[in-house]
Amino acid sequence: MAVNLEFDRDHIWHPYTSMLDPLPVYPVSRAEGCELMLENGQRLIDGTSSWWAAAHGYNHPALNAAVTDQLQQMAHVMFGGITHQPAVSLCQQLVEITPAALTKVFLADSGSVAVEVAIKMALQYWLASDTPAKTKLISLRKGYHGDTFAAMAVCDPVDGMHDMFSGILSQHFFLPPPQSSFDAAFNPADMQPLAELLAQEHSQIAALILEPIVQGYGGMRFYHPEYLRQARALCDQFNVLLIADEIATGFGRTGKLFACEHAGITPDIMCLGKALSGGYITLAATLCTDEVARGISQSAAGGLMHGPTFMANPLACAVANASVQLIRENNWPAQVAAIEQQLQRELAACKSLPAVKDVRVLGAIGVLEMQQKVNVAKLQQQFVELGVWIRPFNNLIYIMPPFIISPAQLSKLSAAMVSVAASSVSN
Ligand SMILES: *Cc1c(COP(=O)(O)O)cnc(C)c1O
Repeated sequence: MAVNLEFDRDHIWHPYTSMLDPLPVYPVSRAEGCELMLENGQRLIDGTSSWWAAAHGYNHPALNAAVTDQLQQMAHVMFGGITHQPAVSLCQQLVEITPAALTKVFLADSGSVAVEVAIKMALQYWLASDTPAKTKLISLRKGYHGDTFAAMAVCDPVDGMHDMFSGILSQHFFLPPPQSSFDAAFNPADMQPLAELLAQEHSQIAALILEPIVQGYGGMRFYHPEYLRQARALCDQFNVLLIADEIATGFGRTGKLFACEHAGITPDIMCLGKALSGGYITLAATLCTDEVARGISQSAAGGLMHGPTFMANPLACAVANASVQLIRENNWPAQVAAIEQQLQRELAACKSLPAVKDVRVLGAIGVLEMQQKVNVAKLQQQFVELGVWIRPFNNLIYIMPPFIISPAQLSKLSAAMVSVAASSVSN
């Protein structure tokens, strides 16, 4: 039976859309490998990994088996007073693969909730350490950390998705984002705003939160690892926690297992999500150090005051275990490096197009920054006609395909980007 598009349009919210004038939606009936199959039989090469998540592609036999095997045991049990092997195995794996000092894991049900938990951890840590004045966060302009209220309050307050709420959200400090790009020379002036703010306000600052190396939905910017190294040192100097939001960057996407590794730093708190469960079932995690966990646990409350109903859902944990296992088989470094090289080669043609402001590639991420905001519905349709699934936003046309994509499939994605960018008008 065909999807009832009229009902969809009239009754169902889609992400970031209006109920009065929604963007068109394309019914997908099946997904396999790097392809989405539309209800009308058309096959599209996927350039999105369903928003960074499906790193191993769709309908993966090992991931499918993890879900169906777990389903025979139990779909879910509460995590209060109960534990289970899928959760224990997953947390063991996460402690093993993340920086050594991150030893404690909180399983959350989405990336935004993992950010909420990270912020709560930081605030509760200082409350419990008799430093209750430390209630503010520092965040970077062009940052994106999720859609719930505490997460929204640390997203870019002007150009972000949530600027209409700026009068309602908790007030934090925002710094200009690093200007030194990933592979350019580092400009030491990038550190000045952070150094000055910490020198003046550290007594009220609980934590610095940032997306390491890649600022995603705030602009797909790739910044210099030296910024992270020096930010880590400044946080230590001024007694401020560092929260790394690796929800988009984690699990190999930027060419390192975690983007923090580009700078060789360990944050005090790290958020994981998206590719954590291989794109199957919503799951996220917030890891912290012994020191942070001990501080929190000494608070009057005696614990971390968070506990979602579906915490550590066994189906999600089981598939995440299998997904992390695939990552640990270590095919991704060669896959990501090959994607990076091919994208660099194939997107270079866009540099001379008048409508294109910048072309950048890092790991398995390829970005065309356009001079102007794009017409999402129109470009989406052009891409579907070209047989690819690419979802632009603002002035960005970008891809982060599954790591298993073949060179021929990737060429189809980059050719579509070049073609759409070439037919876009500039002015
Ligand atoms: C997607 C994203 C989030 C939010 O994750 P959800 O699962 O959508 O709630 C937070 N931070 C970053 C960096 C993200 O890319």
